Amino acid sequence: MLVIRGARLFDGLAARPGHPSVFVEDGRIIAVDLAGAEPPTDATVVDLGEVTLLPGLVDAHVHLCFDPATDPVRQMLAEDDATVLERMRRNARRALRAGITTVRDLGDRGYLALSLRDDGPADTEPLPEILAAGPPITPTGGHCWFLGGQADGVEGVSRAVAERVEQRVDVIKVMATGGMLTPGFGMHESQYGRAELGAAIAAAHQAGVPLTAHAHGPQGIRDAVVCGADGIEHCTFVTETGVGLDLGTVDAMAAAGTFVGATEGFLPGAPPPPPTAASRLERARANLGLMHRAGVRVICSSDAGVVPSKPHDVLPHGVMLFGSIGFSNAGALAAATAHAAEACGLAHRKGRIRPGYDADILAVAGDPMARLDALLDVQAVFRAGIEVASPNRLRRA
Ligand SMILES: [Zn+2]
Repeated sequence: MLVIRGARLFDGLAARPGHPSVFVEDGRIIAVDLAGAEPPTDATVVDLGEVTLLPGLVDAHVHLCFDPATDPVRQMLAEDDATVLERMRRNARRALRAGITTVRDLGDRGYLALSLRDDGPADTEPLPEILAAGPPITPTGGHCWFLGGQADGVEGVSRAVAERVEQRVDVIKVMATGGMLTPGFGMHESQYGRAELGAAIAAAHQAGVPLTAHAHGPQGIRDAVVCGADGIEHCTFVTETGVGLDLGTVDAMAAAGTFVGATEGFLPGAPPPPPTAASRLERARANLGLMHRAGVRVICSSDAGVVPSKPHDVLPHGVMLFGSIGFSNAGALAAATAHAAEACGLAHRKGRIRPGYDADILAVAGDPMARLDALLDVQAVFRAGIEVASPNRLRRA
């Protein structure tokens, strides 16, 4: 048995007073004690001192295959699978060392993220838990077409969903509108209508697989919500001229329990965007706060890999940003732990420090309930009860 001790506990939803000891066996949490219970004499005790224990972070929107420093289009068209897979393994480990113990890959090439999920680490260093969508479904020449998921019309998208179900994806990703990486469709423009979205969602749900839709433009967001998408990625409400907000759609999302995957985390010090983009970003962020207050389940994810300011360990910066757009610190932390796990369909075993849950545990110096930037001072990371290299570790008892 392993016993992990710290000074404070955030359990995925709230801080729990007391001095936490988390009891771990076979990769699972078997008990959480806050009253200073003595561990069994044969237990391995890891006393991390003045740290806060919290659930490993869940990043519900990443692209393991992208090297954030390079042009992903050129890279994906040029590189062979072995090269891409090796980078994916490196990117996944970078995430894990930052305390991100679960990643949901929302767009790879050739189902490589599923290979990584199924083949495991290939050596002794663990990987985060990986969920994967395979190549996102997009029309011919549409957003991220270079990942190989092109499908047109109701029949085309239905076939594409069936292929992904056959490959055993964890989630289906559909590009409902244009996006930033690919010229052709504007971000505000719909790539599919309700016929295609409805067919894709029906096919996914019939197979018991959730579907999340990439959508920036208000029409694309509305159509995906009306058709029953489980999640909306980005959800910026970008229009041709700026950023809007459709309150009817916001109410519909709140009523339906649709998850909004906000992808707003950036490294500090990145070159500032041009003024029009900066003002759009600001308004899109204000919309997130508004959706949150309106009862929409807004979660914090990263879109790691797509630009240089989004390396695969950027998620904590998104959590810090959430703290500045209307989320309480506990709400911001929950948006990347308990609620993010829920969005990934993992509410039963991820995102909480509770008996029965996977022993995916992050220890940070200080108190993230008081200061969210404590997330950047990682002291230890446990993945299924196995300690991952933690370079900042201050001491061990
Ligand atoms: Zn993405």
